[in-house]
Amino acid sequence: MPTLLIVGGGLFGSQAAAYARLKGIEAIVFDPGLDGAASPAAAGLFKEAWAGARFAQHFQRALPVLERLYGIRSVPLTHDDGRVESFLCVPPTAILERAPMRQTVTAIGDGWLEADGQRHEGWVYVAAGVWCEQFLAGLRIIGKAGAAFAFAGERAGHIRELVYGRQAVAFVRDAGATHFSDGTAELDYADRHERATLEHAHSLGLTGTPLVRWWGRRPYTPGGPLFVKIGARTWLATGGRKMGTIFGASFAMRLVEEELILADYSFTPGIRGISPLGLG
Ligand SMILES: Cc1cc2nc3c(=O)[nH]c(=O)nc-3n(C[C@H](O)[C@H](O)[C@H](O)COP(=O)(O)OP(=O)(O)OC[C@H]3O[C@@H](n4cnc5c(N)ncnc54)[C@H](O)[C@@H]3O)c2cc1C
Repeated sequence: MPTLLIVGGGLFGSQAAAYARLKGIEAIVFDPGLDGAASPAAAGLFKEAWAGARFAQHFQRALPVLERLYGIRSVPLTHDDGRVESFLCVPPTAILERAPMRQTVTAIGDGWLEADGQRHEGWVYVAAGVWCEQFLAGLRIIGKAGAAFAFAGERAGHIRELVYGRQAVAFVRDAGATHFSDGTAELDYADRHERATLEHAHSLGLTGTPLVRWWGRRPYTPGGPLFVKIGARTWLATGGRKMGTIFGASFAMRLVEEELILADYSFTPGIRGISPLGLG
């Protein structure tokens, strides 16, 4: 069976690798760790209402994948008026590939990629976030940037609606610290946005110098998230916007269950030579 070669070790690429391995498919992730990657900054929160009717199918497909691979946490966040709202969470620290090949993929073709001057053959999954366009022109990806911070100590979960549909959240994403982000998503991210985010953090009582600052560009594609087969053995997925945890999981399942396993039906012992639909 071919190896799955993945370009990008963010939420999309890492979940594809983990799900493929779960199904017995070898996966290699290439990621040089570019500045501006979205995934390390993600709070990892999601809820069904955010997916809405439009993306409900993604949400339903993602839940069992996330639960099986990482376990889904429930995070209660308290509003200023005392109401408690529950969110689901899988922190990116649980998802992101621990030791990807620290190499930049410089070229891809159908069933191969090149990194560090070396050619690798297999199934190829391009999951390079806002950088996908370099592998498939015309995607019209835009990056909407925002920052997140970790402050020392564990605080009780807090949420504040800043404007309709945009919230500041503070909660323990990773043990020992309080994670803060405020939904800033700017095409032309500048110092003033960063200052505004830090002011929002201070207004929730998070003062002092942050332990960690992340900055990332969320990939947006016109018409919603994108999963496309671009060759007999090559696929591309991006457009995670503010829900990369969910879309990355949904597409990981689609890639492995609906593309790779069906493409290689000799994969299941005992049905070698029989078409995936059992008609051959
Ligand atoms: C502040 C912030 C908060 C967020 N909060 C949430 C949240 O709470 N819940 C949620 O679901 N989503 C959240 N998101 C959105 C989420 O982070 C994104 O949708 C998601 O990370 C996109 O994942 P990705 O794998 O497509 O892209 P990325 O994370 O950008 O990963 C792409 C990877 O490809 C690599 N790469 C690029 N070019 C190459 C190459 N040539 N060769 C090899 N590797 C390459 C890069 O180094 C990068 O690591 C948040 C985003 C931000 C910025």
